[in-house]
Amino acid sequence: MRAGTAVIAPTAPLASLDFLAPKEVIALATAGLHAPKDLLDWLPRRYEDRRRFDAFPAQAGGPAVCLRGTVVDSMKRAFGPRRQFYEAVVMDGTGGVFGSSKVTCRWFNMPFIHKMVASGQEVILYGKPKDLNGKLVIDHPEFEVIREDGGPSIHLERIVPIYRNVSGIAQRRLREIQHILLERIDPAALVPAFDVDPTYPRAEAFREVHFPEALEQAEAARRRFALEEFFTLQLNVVWRRARHHDHSGRVLGTKTTLLKRFYESLPFDLTGAQKRSIKEIVADMREPRPMNRLLQGDVGSGKTFVAMAAMLLAIDSGCQAALMAPTQILAEQHFLTFRKWLEPLGVRVALRTAAKEEHTHLALEGEPQVLIGTHALLFDKTLFNDLGLVVIDEQHKFGVTQRSRLIAQGTTPDVLVMTATPIPRTLTMTIYGDLDVSVLDERPAGRGKMITALRTAAKQTEVTKFVKDQLEAGRQAYLVYPLVEESEALKAESATEAFEKWQKRLSGYAVGLVHGKLDAEEKEAVMRRFRDGSIHALVATSVIEVGVDVPNANLMIIHHAERFGLAQLHQLRGRIGRGEHKSYCILLTDGKSADGMEKLTVMEKTSDGFVIAEEDLRIRGPGDVLGTMQSGLGDLKFADFLADTALLREARALADQVIKEDPMLKGQHTALAGMIQEPQAKSVRRD
Ligand code: ADP
Ligand code: MG
Repeated sequence: MRAGTAVIAPTAPLASLDFLAPKEVIALATAGLHAPKDLLDWLPRRYEDRRRFDAFPAQAGGPAVCLRGTVVDSMKRAFGPRRQFYEAVVMDGTGGVFGSSKVTCRWFNMPFIHKMVASGQEVILYGKPKDLNGKLVIDHPEFEVIREDGGPSIHLERIVPIYRNVSGIAQRRLREIQHILLERIDPAALVPAFDVDPTYPRAEAFREVHFPEALEQAEAARRRFALEEFFTLQLNVVWRRARHHDHSGRVLGTKTTLLKRFYESLPFDLTGAQKRSIKEIVADMREPRPMNRLLQGDVGSGKTFVAMAAMLLAIDSGCQAALMAPTQILAEQHFLTFRKWLEPLGVRVALRTAAKEEHTHLALEGEPQVLIGTHALLFDKTLFNDLGLVVIDEQHKFGVTQRSRLIAQGTTPDVLVMTATPIPRTLTMTIYGDLDVSVLDERPAGRGKMITALRTAAKQTEVTKFVKDQLEAGRQAYLVYPLVEESEALKAESATEAFEKWQKRLSGYAVGLVHGKLDAEEKEAVMRRFRDGSIHALVATSVIEVGVDVPNANLMIIHHAERFGLAQLHQLRGRIGRGEHKSYCILLTDGKSADGMEKLTVMEKTSDGFVIAEEDLRIRGPGDVLGTMQSGLGDLKFADFLADTALLREARALADQVIKEDPMLKGQHTALAGMIQEPQAKSVRRD
């Protein structure tokens, strides 16, 4: 610590720090950095090992390089009539050989760059060299001018941090600020309310993540911070779970008359996994505390029947059961399914969506026992007298927030969340960590074989013939397209345009069209006709990806398949293979995208949703995978670590321990109470 300088509190306003200019305080605030602790959390984006620089590359095409050299020439240049750019030639200070001693740097649309780069300066460059007519060029390199004022430097001869840019503050200055801060920050004030790793002081971890002596050191420090972040996440999860269990629920499911009649009415045997899950659910419902359970199973694994069994148990105990679907199409489809199976048992089923109301019974016969609707149902308390069980058909769209809102509203029904989209196991613990889990890992028997074929140069005539053959045999087909309307940018054959073509190609058959721009009524009308067989081939966008169940449809042709995400492709493919017929999923692509081919090859190789989910995580990274889920994860700074199950488990164990020791966080861990985020209610209408 510097003699004579006061220690800095992590929460002090930046304006109170003597080494920051007022202009800098404003620049930092604009970037959202208001206190020393914000700066400490502003972790390096990458590091440069400036103990040795890369050799000036002899050719383009390699990875990014970090070079040290001297600017020997710089000028403004024109590029076309109006566009200017700034160019600087940087020469290897050590004198390279064989012409590999020079690179040309270019900056476009950066009018102020000439004030920063000038001939004679010694600079450090970072970027990817490319070839421009035999010249090595780096466009928009990151660069830093070397200014040595003697003495040991934090900018040279060591591993230096490179931060995300803060507008108005140079990298070099930001590094200085961080360095001063780390020297003067009060280490005692950095000790957190709950230390996930008391053997590794937090102040030390900050020093090592900003100014590591070795990259492994920075890595270890990041792990510590990731663990802290996971701990906060898991503490919330464990807290929610505990709070759910605080509520008194009711004992349901002791009477099984309806369930037995239901079993007798089924034309098939339930799978072992279905039976096991129902058993788990029954045991849970019979507990006096409310059930909070996730039913996870791949598309077509028979979740609906498990849900029906649970709902029958609830109504046999004299209360109502509700099923929430994410879209109107799905709500209506569930209604038909439930009507088919439950009406013969004398159960009163009703459908409620924004667009529609339908009942299997007359009003005078009594209240509906089973209510099916979109998520909006949840917020209409007038519909329920006595809600005992809520089944949420989730498809990723229904978050933690809504689940808690159910509980917050006073009644505490049993909750069963069904999810068809397989989630990588590493993420289940986080996203659904507050739920108990039942898994359907077995496909019902009697399903036809499923063949997935990847075709890079399919002839339209052959594709058409294949479709016709299937329709001729009495089957139905999905013809899937990625876009609704012609987009110049993507040049994809849009669904609307394709629809017209397919009508001609398949003359004699009824072709339908469904896409996201239709309103719910129109969509449902088309789906109904496809379901009852009066439409033979359905041209569709990914709107059909969720839940649609037409067992006679055995063929799906996915055009421009590389444009879809893996999870989406898997959902789409799940629409077929639901009947006894052999099914075909044909993935059409031009084969030009390597990433696309990697994805599609996974689809061709496996139909196991969990494997696909893990591959998806691997290919896209957790950030993107999570981005498509409503996860309640907020923005993790250390999302890279999401793939790190071990760390997540460690955090879970710590959180479990804390809640066990102090269930309400009012005793020894009261300092952690502030980490609990009460979920905020959000609107969930999607139709
Ligand atoms: P999920 O909701 O998991 O996608 P569903 O419950 O909709 O699956 O079931 C998919 C299809 O499989 C439906 O057509 C259903 O009738 C059928 N099915 C469900 N369980 C069985 C079973 N045990 N044996 C045979 N067919 C089943
Ligand atoms: Mg389903």
